Amino acid sequence: MIELVSAERCTACNICVNACPTNVFDAVPDGPPRIARQDDCQTCFMCELYCPEDALYVAPIADRGATAEERDAAAVALMGSYRSAIGWGRGRRSTASADASFELLRRAH
Ligand code: SF4
Ligand code: SF4
Repeated sequence: MIELVSAERCTACNICVNACPTNVFDAVPDGPPRIARQDDCQTCFMCELYCPEDALYVAPIADRGATAEERDAAAVALMGSYRSAIGWGRGRRSTASADASFELLRRAH
């Protein structure tokens, strides 16, 4: 579930507002988007993936919000971590070729 928009990192480009498939954010003139409908978040990570500033944190547990400890950790280290892990962003390389999840499908058939 979407948890944080960093006011320090956000450049108010509103890419996340447009990327979100469930309209969770409201654009704010000259400021970071507001998480207006958090309960509508589907934990799809699209906002975090497309944010060019690593200014967002989506907690991986879909059916509960982050704990206070997770929020603190996110503020320090986790913003944009999913995006980084899959290799999106300047200076990063895609990790798609290392994804072995196709094995699950292969074994299921
Ligand atoms: S994780 Fe997906 S559904 Fe949730 S706010 Fe981001 S883009 Fe929207
Ligand atoms: S995509 Fe990132 S930088 Fe752009 S408005 Fe959203 S949080 Fe801010």
